[in-house]
Amino acid sequence: MAETPKAENLTWHRGEIGAGDRRKAYGHRGAVLWLTGLSGSGKSTLAHRLERKLLERGCVTYVLDGDNVRHGLNADLGFAPDERKENIRRVGHVARLFADSGALVITAFISPYRADRDQIRAMLPEGDFVEIHVAADLATCEERDPKGLYAKARAGEIKGFTGIDAPYEAPETPELKVDTGSQDVDGSAGDVLAWLEERGYFDAED
Ligand code: ADP
Repeated sequence: MAETPKAENLTWHRGEIGAGDRRKAYGHRGAVLWLTGLSGSGKSTLAHRLERKLLERGCVTYVLDGDNVRHGLNADLGFAPDERKENIRRVGHVARLFADSGALVITAFISPYRADRDQIRAMLPEGDFVEIHVAADLATCEERDPKGLYAKARAGEIKGFTGIDAPYEAPETPELKVDTGSQDVDGSAGDVLAWLEERGYFDAED
């Protein structure tokens, strides 16, 4: 998993515009809102509701969704542990570029491994990685089973399914934990927006 370029003679070109300029222009800071949780916990639903609410506030925002990036950018990757790791690494870099562009980017990936999430936290400036645990217990997720995947996993038709026969390492100290098991989606979105508001993410200056 190379983090240093294979090619030589590369330099990072710094532009004329910095994070502060973008913040002033957009009226908010850029950041990655990293949703993590079991399949069916509500990451996609919450991500898209948040995107709408942020857009309504005039924010620059975009969702990077699990299945969507697997159609293109990560079409070569499956669900073996190494491939999951590479999936998250690439998405982390894309999310970093979005945040650097000044956007509030929302990612919706199970991202089951703590080390992979911590690696993304480490490559972002302080405060740019907002880890949000989308928490609904396994029984609730399995009962919802919006894509019928738990049924397939239980029947042995999918191997290495998170929560069934692959681990989910819940965040120990996320910035925020939203209870999507008993709350409705607007309640969860409201919690995230309130957290961002309280910490000045919607301010045009630091
Ligand atoms: P994931 O992206 O985590 O796999 P999805 O968003 O595809 O999960 O599915 C979650 C399901 O749970 C949806 O059917 C959604 O309507 C339902 N749901 C119930 N309460 C919530 C909530 N508070 N937040 C998000 N989704 C919820």
